Amino acid sequence: MPRIAIVGGGPAGSAFALHALKLGVDPSDLVVLDRARFPRPKLCGGALTWRGTELVRELVPDLVPHESARMQTTHLRFRSARGDFEVRERGPQWLYDRAHLDDRLLAAVIEAGVEVRQSTAVKAVEPGVGSTVVRTKAGPESFEWVVGADGARGVVARSVNLPRGIVGRLVEAIYEPEPGHEPDPAELLFDFDPILDGIPGYAWVFPYPKPTATGEPTTETTPGLYKLGIMDGRGVAEGQALREWTDAFAEREGFRRIDEKIAGWPEHYWSHRTRAHVPGVILTGEAWGIDPLLGEGIAPAIEISRYAAGRLKEALDAGSRTIPTYEKGFRKTVPGKNLRFQQRLADLLYGKNPLRWLDVLFSHRRMLALAAAGTEAYGQLEKHTWPLIWSYVWQVLTGGHRPTPRLQAG
Ligand SMILES: Cc1cc2nc3c(=O)[nH]c(=O)nc-3n(C[C@H](O)[C@H](O)[C@H](O)COP(=O)(O)OP(=O)(O)OC[C@H]3O[C@@H](n4cnc5c(N)ncnc54)[C@H](O)[C@@H]3O)c2cc1C
Repeated sequence: MPRIAIVGGGPAGSAFALHALKLGVDPSDLVVLDRARFPRPKLCGGALTWRGTELVRELVPDLVPHESARMQTTHLRFRSARGDFEVRERGPQWLYDRAHLDDRLLAAVIEAGVEVRQSTAVKAVEPGVGSTVVRTKAGPESFEWVVGADGARGVVARSVNLPRGIVGRLVEAIYEPEPGHEPDPAELLFDFDPILDGIPGYAWVFPYPKPTATGEPTTETTPGLYKLGIMDGRGVAEGQALREWTDAFAEREGFRRIDEKIAGWPEHYWSHRTRAHVPGVILTGEAWGIDPLLGEGIAPAIEISRYAAGRLKEALDAGSRTIPTYEKGFRKTVPGKNLRFQQRLADLLYGKNPLRWLDVLFSHRRMLALAAAGTEAYGQLEKHTWPLIWSYVWQVLTGGHRPTPRLQAG
């Protein structure tokens, strides 16, 4: 009988299982329950930053040589009416079709001997004194622990009344370039102009490696496709307004939509205030929360799951159903500190004075130098907090700052 039910077989659920196994948890102690049948569609830009590529490589080393339904970019580009700069990481970024990536990660879990029950929707989770009951169509089942890896709209957090963080709204579709327009296929473009229209977020253009036979492992992808979308990092705009913004953006950028509809899905952001544990239950991945600045979710999901697996193993060894300082302990880890850094930036850029902070971002000389250096990684800048603050203060003291104009919607 499995002792631990992992609800959700996305990157967080798979990473949790694989890390738990590495720590010595027996495969027969784990079961993954997912309402979907894999490979399942997942609305996502499918971009892994360099750190994400390393995290996936650590989990499933053979994904790299055998995997060709993906492509690489060499850099990110941040653009706005106040400037434009490239972000060069320590290595390339990978782009995936998410159905394909998640299927490969879950296959590694199955290959490691863990039971995976697909098409199994969890309806509710009820923590009790000695066990936690999981309710599915098949009836109630008791586990020592339940791991909520069920994403932005997860049932686990709701069932156990864990309060939610900020929920953003995203829309996205597949586009192709208009004849004569040649976008850079080696670039992930982030355009912060939605902020000028009162939408606290950014629009993106990512190359998309669409598998020719969706759902099947394939080495073939359809060339020349892109995903365009918009993230409203505070969930303040209506879905229809975001769809219209995306189509207008695509037209300006020289793209034609090939998807019939522009689909939407929420994102749930991490904050130092979100809670993720009650006795017998922990949250991981987006169920707990992801990067509130760019909505990067895959790398944080894997990082949180690595931490969660370690803490749960300690609790199993101690025969305990509580994990003191589960949230606080994560905040002290490097990924936790970096998420806190991303949260601070998001609070500024998507907060009360976004134009001022947009201006700081695009004129901050030390930040621009770090972005260009190729020695850093997106999502790992927390260690530079004080040098960044002091260098900007010095920049303003010695040269003043550009007046923030009253930017109008274009
Ligand atoms: C439009 C859009 C674009 C994005 N682009 C990027 C990007 O380019 N790069 C990036 O890093 N991140 C991106 N993200 C975020 C990223 O997709 C998520 O943060 C990431 O998938 C989180 O992984 P997870 O495993 O925590 O959750 P998920 O991937 O959502 O997996 C949760 C799993 O739980 C299952 N589940 C849910 N409820 C139940 C239930 N009741 N019972 C059983 N199973 C259940 C689901 O079927 C699913 O398989 C994007 C998100 C959106 C919406």
